[in-house]
Amino acid sequence: MLTISTGAELRTALTRMRYAASGVRVAFVPTMGALHAGHLSLVDAAREHGDVVVMSLFVNPLQFGPGEDLTRYPRDPFGDTAQAEAAGVDLLFMPDVAQLYPREPRVRVVPVPGAVAERWEGAVRPGHFAGVLTVVAKLLHLVQPEVAVFGQKDAQQVAVVRAMLTDLDWPTALVVAPTVREADGLALSSRNVYLDPTARARAAAIPRALHAAERAFADGEAQGPVLAALVERGLAREGGLHADYVAVADPDTLDPVERAEQGTLVLLAVRVGTTRLLDTITLGVPAFGTGLAFGANGADRRRAAAGASGVESR
Ligand code: AMP
Repeated sequence: MLTISTGAELRTALTRMRYAASGVRVAFVPTMGALHAGHLSLVDAAREHGDVVVMSLFVNPLQFGPGEDLTRYPRDPFGDTAQAEAAGVDLLFMPDVAQLYPREPRVRVVPVPGAVAERWEGAVRPGHFAGVLTVVAKLLHLVQPEVAVFGQKDAQQVAVVRAMLTDLDWPTALVVAPTVREADGLALSSRNVYLDPTARARAAAIPRALHAAERAFADGEAQGPVLAALVERGLAREGGLHADYVAVADPDTLDPVERAEQGTLVLLAVRVGTTRLLDTITLGVPAFGTGLAFGANGADRRRAAAGASGVESR
């Protein structure tokens, strides 16, 4: 694995790889580091769709608002490097802030008000998606991948990136990978390290509530507001959780739907103490295997999840 910290070195390395063999497909996995099995499942998905796998580790200050966890966001460059190498990443891009933003940006990629980036996460974190799109645009220009892999856990991020790729005629194909979960269903997240044992136990109510919606939909309940209320009640039953939002929404527009159908999203952001956790399920696509306490180990869950990723043709 090549570890690289500047855009110039990255371009040189990729040009060499593209010259070395014709038709090389580059698959790109952007992350903020503090890697876990969820991130590594994206590497597995990338490997399915590309010959060269590039991963970036960059905690992007532009997507954090004032008072958010930018300074305490977990960072583990040495552990990440070892995990990325073991997972088969070919090229690890680890720029520092001065490298990607040598000056205050004069241009940002800002989503149109009123559209897909506005609701839910966008409403709670003003400017967040402009920060995400700006760094994704920069990284895509640097890496120029054929394929970029994102996690379904952050479903609104997927929709906003998809909108940018479509509206700006980007040639990169999007691969969306399913969520890797702990045995009790909690989605793996770099932020889970913030949870003390009490908060961690409370957080298990999140997958339980989503699972209840998944089962209700499978049993014929299709009213969006009813499914959302079911999840809200499940969260409320566990003390100490505060839902910023629970939405039953269209996967492309993120508009709430009256009638849910196969492919409709149930997405939420929940605060457990000072930790904010996001999760999403897709109705009609089982997220929890045969039950919440499935016994597979992390690597098995990772393989199972990666096998279900899908490329969106563009
Ligand atoms: P982050 O480092 O949190 O910005 O995440 C980098 C990428 O990993 C994003 O596309 C996330 O959606 C994805 N991701 C995060 N957690 C998981 C998970 N548990 N399973 C699969 N993908 C994930």
